[in-house]
Amino acid sequence: MLSFCVAGRYIPPHLRNKDASKNGECDASGWNTAKDAYTSFGNNRGKSAFFNDRGNANRGRFEHGGFGNGGGGGNSRWVEESRDDGDWSKPTPRNERLEHELFSGSNTGINFEKYDDIPVEATGQNCPQHIESFQDVDMGEIIMGNIALSRYTRPTPVQKYAIPIIKSKRDLMACAQTGSGKTAAFLLPVLSQIYTDGPGEALNAAKENGKYGRRKQYPISLVLAPTRELALQIYDEARKFSYRSRVRPCVVYGGADIGQQIRDLERGCHLLVATPGRLVDMMERGKIGLDYCNYLVLDEADRMLDMGFEPQIRRIVEQDTMPPKGIRQTMMFSATFPKEIQILARDFLEDYIFLAVGRVGSTSENITQKVVWVEESDKRSFLLDLLSATGKDSLTLVFVETKKGADALEDFLYREGYACTSIHGDRSQRDREEALNQFRSGKCPILVATAVAARGLDISNVKHVINFDLPSDIEEYVHRIGRTGRVGNLGLATSFFNDKNGNITKDLLDILVEAKQDVPSWLESLAYEHQHKSSNRGRSKRFSGGFGARDYRQTAAGGNAGGFGGRGGGRNQAGHGGNRGFGGGEDLIFGYK
Ligand code: ADP
Ligand code: MG
Repeated sequence: MLSFCVAGRYIPPHLRNKDASKNGECDASGWNTAKDAYTSFGNNRGKSAFFNDRGNANRGRFEHGGFGNGGGGGNSRWVEESRDDGDWSKPTPRNERLEHELFSGSNTGINFEKYDDIPVEATGQNCPQHIESFQDVDMGEIIMGNIALSRYTRPTPVQKYAIPIIKSKRDLMACAQTGSGKTAAFLLPVLSQIYTDGPGEALNAAKENGKYGRRKQYPISLVLAPTRELALQIYDEARKFSYRSRVRPCVVYGGADIGQQIRDLERGCHLLVATPGRLVDMMERGKIGLDYCNYLVLDEADRMLDMGFEPQIRRIVEQDTMPPKGIRQTMMFSATFPKEIQILARDFLEDYIFLAVGRVGSTSENITQKVVWVEESDKRSFLLDLLSATGKDSLTLVFVETKKGADALEDFLYREGYACTSIHGDRSQRDREEALNQFRSGKCPILVATAVAARGLDISNVKHVINFDLPSDIEEYVHRIGRTGRVGNLGLATSFFNDKNGNITKDLLDILVEAKQDVPSWLESLAYEHQHKSSNRGRSKRFSGGFGARDYRQTAAGGNAGGFGGRGGGRNQAGHGGNRGFGGGEDLIFGYK
């Protein structure tokens, strides 16, 4: 029988004795009471009077429970875990070695000024005011210290809006261009909130579990990402922003030794970054419980809700112990958000704000996009020409469609005397990490990659992205070229086009026009022909007005979204084939373990 109460509000140790006397109502039933509270509020009422302000939801929810006696005092096993005790809003002592490790590679004075006048649309009820500087919102001492150490002088546009929205506990679907600082846009406010609120009952649950020899962890926040590399990158950012705090971030992803990841989890896990497949595995092994996960973030959300991942996301979010929407806070981020995915996303969001940050007018200045007609048989020699024209210390990322194609091209370039490496789904996780490191460090300045590298990876100094093979959908194109021209730097994207790429013609043309790029006349005529051939594909112009997407609720079709009731049907109606967005099935592999 469980002899503890998890339904306690977090109370710092110095106040605990006082509270112990109030523990009368806190007995074995505490566990069930807390769980039932979730279920009944979540299902029946969504927001009872008790919960009508999300700001008080967490607190209110636990008011009726005292602080359990699993607080750890006297249990010597937990002495080592003293990290968890104390006031979570106060910084822990400095550690110069760690500080150096975390922040030495940071950003040096990138100028965001030209991002200032880009259009932003925030739609949804009662949208909180945006901020102009990090000082405009109270994120606490730890976060402010880490922002300074990261040398972020001012928030990027998506941060100006997303930070106050998340701080006011609203759900959010945010669409902002690649390289615009979306990671910090969710990590800063979520971590700040965790520091303010403390670990709450998650701490007791983990400790109590530990008493029985099990070491299940109850993260307070979960960030899901589609690829292992992206998960690692988010984890690294999370380590920065949790420096000098009591929050311990962890990362789990497939392809790496699970035993090691389990051992790392067992040292404590408050913020978990995960790819879905490995997370499901960890949940099934009883290593992770999402019972107290108050913050759920889907990075690259449109990819995460696309068909390859959706069942796993539902398994994690809806079919386990995670608090229901309306109780937990849910945030989704991406550079692209097709309407049909927005409709699907409603299942996970409650009364959300849709944030569309205009694609910077200066995308045109930052990324020069070129499309050249190259027949299949000429691609290699064309590539060699481009590479020989590239400066020595700049990095070039070459995208191909298949894993086999990646291996073959890497081999070819190697034989031609280029220092290159590759990253794709048939390579082991260790090889992939190694390849990424060699590329980042400039040892191998050419990286041949499949779609796995398209999403989210932040590698500074990528000067040139080459689409050796163009992808079949335009979102993938946007993400790929977004690997260059990041945060105010200049970049070039060259795409090889031939008759195989007919299906992307119209969308590619739209993108080029919108970003004020030179459009080859053959592309224009092709798009014209194409449009006439397949005159009514029923596809909306996604990127109108310089946004990666618009809130579908604002459009006429959004108004009668009832028509999209069945989820599979919704997407088919929107005119997509079964494999859109998968880069040739690649991510089916990457998403899973
Ligand atoms: P996105 O997810 O939008 O593609 P990232 O979150 O990967 O972009 O951020 C891109 C880069 O910008 C990262 O190196 C990050 O450290 C940096 N960055 C983020 N916010 C700021 C800021 N406010 N000031 C300076 N650099 C920032
Ligand atoms: Mg990102």
